[in-house]
Amino acid sequence: MNRIAIIGAGIAGLAAARRLADRGYDCTVLEKSRGLGGRMATRRADGLQFDHGAQYFTARGEALQAYVRSWQQEGVVAEWGSGRLVGCPGMTAPAWALARGLTIHRNCRVTHLDHHPEGWTLHADHGPDDDTLAMAFDAVLLAIPAPQAMALAATTGIDFPALQQVRYAPTITLMAAFDHPLPLADVVIEPTEGPLAWIARNATKPGRDTEPETVVAHAGSEWSRAHVDTPTEALGEPLLEALRAMVGKAQPFHWQVHRWLYARVEQAAGTPCLWDAQQRIGACGDWALGARVEAAFDSGEALAAALVRSMGVGGDGANG
Ligand code: FAD
Repeated sequence: MNRIAIIGAGIAGLAAARRLADRGYDCTVLEKSRGLGGRMATRRADGLQFDHGAQYFTARGEALQAYVRSWQQEGVVAEWGSGRLVGCPGMTAPAWALARGLTIHRNCRVTHLDHHPEGWTLHADHGPDDDTLAMAFDAVLLAIPAPQAMALAATTGIDFPALQQVRYAPTITLMAAFDHPLPLADVVIEPTEGPLAWIARNATKPGRDTEPETVVAHAGSEWSRAHVDTPTEALGEPLLEALRAMVGKAQPFHWQVHRWLYARVEQAAGTPCLWDAQQRIGACGDWALGARVEAAFDSGEALAAALVRSMGVGGDGANG
């Protein structure tokens, strides 16, 4: 009674897996992308590095603060201005720290779930080996954005009605690198007009190369929503134009655009996590409590606690 599959290696899935593994559960994490951290992301290209998802995080609750204290000692996390925490050398660093010693299969997108008397089996579009996928798990945790969790749960006839009310805003992100420092007054600018809502000097974060000048610029929700179906190659020019309006005529020697479909939770489910004790399937993520890294972390921890309460510590039937 202790084999747990966790789908999604963002901060919510890793927080749940970490807590359960530390309680003696046998956890297997399946992640569709190459990296860890989900929207706590770092893009590396041509020797450059950009945190193109979450820019920083805060730790208001004791649970995340306890991790942050040890991450700061190890250099995994540092402050970037007052109260803003960043992973070092990139935003994915806390995810990799949580993942230490866990069994994680990357490049593995779970496509559907099967529930049968022996437990749960998973199906994926590629990797890991068939033995892992054929294994029966005692419980499955969906640590993925709400629309994807609904679709995956539906493959096995399970409905989590609370997920239906969740709404996300998309974000279109411009990453650009310049030969010379830009004439920006601060490390972060939050324009109130035009397409861009956030411009950050990525290289001012601790633990990054200070040269060249790298900029991460997020378009606001309204502009992003209006352009969510625009081909990527047509998004660069209007965003570069908006950036030039803030930084003068500087020409980047490198730029690229990323489109986040489920970027920021606009309407949360308003519950820490979802757990079906009978079927032993649960869901967690930022959609539970709000658009923040810490909300995702807290949701993962809440789901791990709900599972332990209903299945016992390490599957031995005792309550923990
Ligand atoms: P995710 O990080 O989305 O993790 C889900 C994981 O599941 C992903 O790794 C995904 O690849 C994987 N997955 C999905 N489907 C499958 C499948 N079928 N099979 C296997 N794996 C799958 N928060 C802050 O606190 N501060 C900020 O400054 C901030 N800025 C942001 C800026 C942007 C542009 C974005 C996009 C987000 C920002 N956020 C910020 C929000 C924050 O990043 C998220 O709230 C948080 O990282 C969500 O974590 P999660 O684990 O719930 O989901």
